[in-house]
Amino acid sequence: MTAPLLGHMMDVPLLVSSLIAHAARHHGNTEIVSRRIEGDLHRYTYRDCETRAKQLAQALIALGVEPGERVGTLAWNGYRHMEAYFGVTGFGAVCHTINPRLFPEQIAWIVNHADDRYVLFDLTFAPLVDALAPQCPNVRGWIALCDESCLPAMKTPVLAYETLLAAQDGDYAWPLLDERSASNLCYTSGTTGNPKGALYTHRSSVLHAYAASLPDSIGLSARDAILPVVPMFHVNAWGIPHAAPLNGTKLVLPGKDLDGKSLYELMESEGVTCSAGVPTVWLGLLTYMRDAGVKFSTLQRTVIGGSACPPAMLRTYEDTYGVQVIHAWGMTEMSPLGTLAKLNWEQSQRPPDARRALLEKQGRVIFGVDMKIVGDDGRELPWDGVAFGDLHVRGPWVIDRYFRQAGGTPLIDGWFPTGDVATIDADGFLHITDRSKDVIKSGGEWISSIELENIAVSHPAIAEAACIACAHPRWTERPLIVAVKKPGAEVTREALLAYFDGKVVKWWQPDDVVFVDELPHTATGKLQKLKLRDQFRDHVLPTAAAASEQCPMEPLDANIDAHAGGGAHPVKSAATPD
Ligand code: AMP
Repeated sequence: MTAPLLGHMMDVPLLVSSLIAHAARHHGNTEIVSRRIEGDLHRYTYRDCETRAKQLAQALIALGVEPGERVGTLAWNGYRHMEAYFGVTGFGAVCHTINPRLFPEQIAWIVNHADDRYVLFDLTFAPLVDALAPQCPNVRGWIALCDESCLPAMKTPVLAYETLLAAQDGDYAWPLLDERSASNLCYTSGTTGNPKGALYTHRSSVLHAYAASLPDSIGLSARDAILPVVPMFHVNAWGIPHAAPLNGTKLVLPGKDLDGKSLYELMESEGVTCSAGVPTVWLGLLTYMRDAGVKFSTLQRTVIGGSACPPAMLRTYEDTYGVQVIHAWGMTEMSPLGTLAKLNWEQSQRPPDARRALLEKQGRVIFGVDMKIVGDDGRELPWDGVAFGDLHVRGPWVIDRYFRQAGGTPLIDGWFPTGDVATIDADGFLHITDRSKDVIKSGGEWISSIELENIAVSHPAIAEAACIACAHPRWTERPLIVAVKKPGAEVTREALLAYFDGKVVKWWQPDDVVFVDELPHTATGKLQKLKLRDQFRDHVLPTAAAASEQCPMEPLDANIDAHAGGGAHPVKSAATPD
């Protein structure tokens, strides 16, 4: 056999640093506007951002951080977080964005598992850092994202970010790294057991940024101003901090205030054309706009994903506010973009109802991702919009294993099993119909059904219990316990609900309990959750009934409080809305 003829093109590695370098050089005056914790608006340019990212790289190197080591962040969407995205990764270290909404024990576990050397944190998380520091002995230092004068009184010795940067001149050339080296690390708790880390490469991050930019994807350009509501600690804000500099898109970073009024005002004052976030947050915005009787003057489109976008929400945005909704599906393990619902030319000629029906689905894969649905026997199922099965994906920005996870690869024949159950129709549109992984997604955050089941069955009167996701107008899903009592034993619904008090944080507590005579099992004795979810598809949670009377009335702050609630949560005031 003759050897393949190799081409004569430059072998330039795909590096995250090239994104900010490009923006600084070719869109140097384009703005990054951030609402700071202090409440004021901070504005500077991509050029400034790159200089400060270089100063951060120099500062971390001076602190002894080596390429390959992890640097954690506990931060909102803001310019200093953006600097970490490039300053940490630019010299070869790994930017590990940590979700501050998780329980402190989970966060400590993640910091230790990732073996973070330093952790950068916004001031709102100072109490959390004080709780974490004693449990994370390998962290060499905690760096407060502020200047010396703003340092709060803390038990933990901390460094001031601005002081570290001021000691550096920013005269630094981004090194040429191996494009397969790790750039970013995100943990997902959307799995059973401990959180699992997805370790992205420079190559996968840059390819994903290209994919996010495509017209039938998020579709960014230098004429856009994008406001990512999705937090930078949730799968890299869906890749927007990478895709925005690639395109020279104006970036508007909302900080911690994600209530409808704050978002609306920022969108209007900064001429935002495009946004992205989970459904719960858009409900808050709709509520505000309806009550205030206001309309958008610049917003053209918004990506809604992370949970299924309710059809009514899609209709309201499009019909009442003239904003195009792009329903998207993805996951931490795939960087996260997988599919987006945009019509092709032929589909856009169809009658309005047919177009809507397609747009309500999760959409078509973007180039780079391949997907299939398989039945219980592992065989691929037809794309007829009826057959449903386990959704498997593959592609250059899909993980092939979890970070430091024993037990080998999760792949099946080279495909990553997503844990979602779906149909694919003849148009190639994906529709997520269910989930085989045992977790519930409430307001964009995961709740473990298994943990709640374990608590339920530890009650002396309960023989068996299943915890399933039940539809909720505000949170998308909330936990419902379906339980079988022991023969002759008695417990009321209220008593079983009260039994969860103090055992889990408040927002994990089930919303309802239903007693049944028996639960459905497979021949091998496994609980048939799909069947159970089907059985309770129309179950109306008492909390849902109350919410739909008010929805979409309540301010998002209530969302934040509810999700941060449960006395033991130390980040109550700073809980992460999304
Ligand atoms: P995460 O890794 O936290 O981003 O969660 C990913 C999971 O969220 C997916 O595997 C789905 O279960 C769910 N998900 C994400 N987007 C959607 C969507 N548009 N519709 C339904 N479920 C979704």
